[in-house]
Amino acid sequence: MLGGDRSDSPPNTAKYTELEGETMTQHSTGLRSLMSPGRYVQGRGALTELGTHVARHGERPLLVADNQVRELTEEPIRTSFEAAGLPVLFETFGGVPSRVESERIAARLRDHGADVVVGVGGGAPIDTAKAAGDDLGVPRISVPTVASTDAPTSALSVVYTEAGAFESYRFYDRNPDVVVLDTELVAKAPTHFLIAGVGDALATWIEARAVSRGDGTTMIGDRATRAGTALAKLSWDILWESALPAVRAVEHNLVTPAVEAVAEANTLLSGLGFESGGLAAAHAIHDGLTAVPHTHALAHGQKVNIGSIAQLVLEGAPSSEIEEFIRFTARVGLPTTLTEAGLGDATEDVLRTVAEAATAPSETIHNLPFAVTVTDVVDALGAVEVLGQQARDEAGLPRAQAPISHG
Ligand SMILES: [Zn+2]
Repeated sequence: MLGGDRSDSPPNTAKYTELEGETMTQHSTGLRSLMSPGRYVQGRGALTELGTHVARHGERPLLVADNQVRELTEEPIRTSFEAAGLPVLFETFGGVPSRVESERIAARLRDHGADVVVGVGGGAPIDTAKAAGDDLGVPRISVPTVASTDAPTSALSVVYTEAGAFESYRFYDRNPDVVVLDTELVAKAPTHFLIAGVGDALATWIEARAVSRGDGTTMIGDRATRAGTALAKLSWDILWESALPAVRAVEHNLVTPAVEAVAEANTLLSGLGFESGGLAAAHAIHDGLTAVPHTHALAHGQKVNIGSIAQLVLEGAPSSEIEEFIRFTARVGLPTTLTEAGLGDATEDVLRTVAEAATAPSETIHNLPFAVTVTDVVDALGAVEVLGQQARDEAGLPRAQAPISHG
């Protein structure tokens, strides 16, 4: 269980030390831990080095990618694998990171006698490759071709139902052995991927901060180390500084220092920060949003942004902080209203379904240092719509209307 069901617990009354907006409890002496991938490699042309990294872990790799990603990456992968004396064998990813799909990939690994699995693409094929690799106990290598989630670095997969709803987290005893991120691919990919990654990575600090304020645990199950919490904060600082220039650069397929910084924040820092700093309400509300079909067209990071705003509301964050966050993420291009998430005219029943899933006993929302009910979440979602529209009006941004669809 991630946060455990603490709905009967009294509100946390720990004393805080305020340090430049950071808040850490002073008193806990419980176990703290941090996990990370074995090696992280990022930069322009990093894909040309992939063979060297894979060869350190096996001789018979299986690459998992959908056809579009394969077309984009096969040539440099083939060149680098041939230079490293590795065979090139692709398996086509089926599209949904479900239990059935990871079992199918595991069977292919077995058939081919593969001794290392390489997930290439977005979070879905990478999470599936991690699951299949764990089934067979072979090393896992992540090759994100977009900077849209922090899945490439973590020792867990998000498992979805065949219909695309959140099913569970699946935990592993180790992280991917290598992560190779080629920023030229990030720059050439459609900009909405980078934007979604910014939404996912901004939540990292909002959630790690909440965990550090209370007695919550990280995804590993222990307390957060100062390192885990600090990496989450570093991700946040980089994004406020560089997200807007990075989005502009990627719109023109350019690799700039801002793109490098945001790619690292979205992939490495957000990954370490969420896994070793802890999740709270933003991701639980994301999971809740997947329980209704209205939101299925949205990317992970887009739904997470709705969750971040809802968490700030639940925490009673200062209105200036909430408004600033909404205005910034709207400028980045993230959805900041229920309307954009496809829930503009959702009935209370629909919002209640979202809130019930978000507050399930195993959910990370119980890492908040106070108890949260289904009704609290329904009302926080209602407030997201009102505050989101108001902040857009005040910032002179167009009123939110049609859902943004970049599944
Ligand atoms: Zn996430």
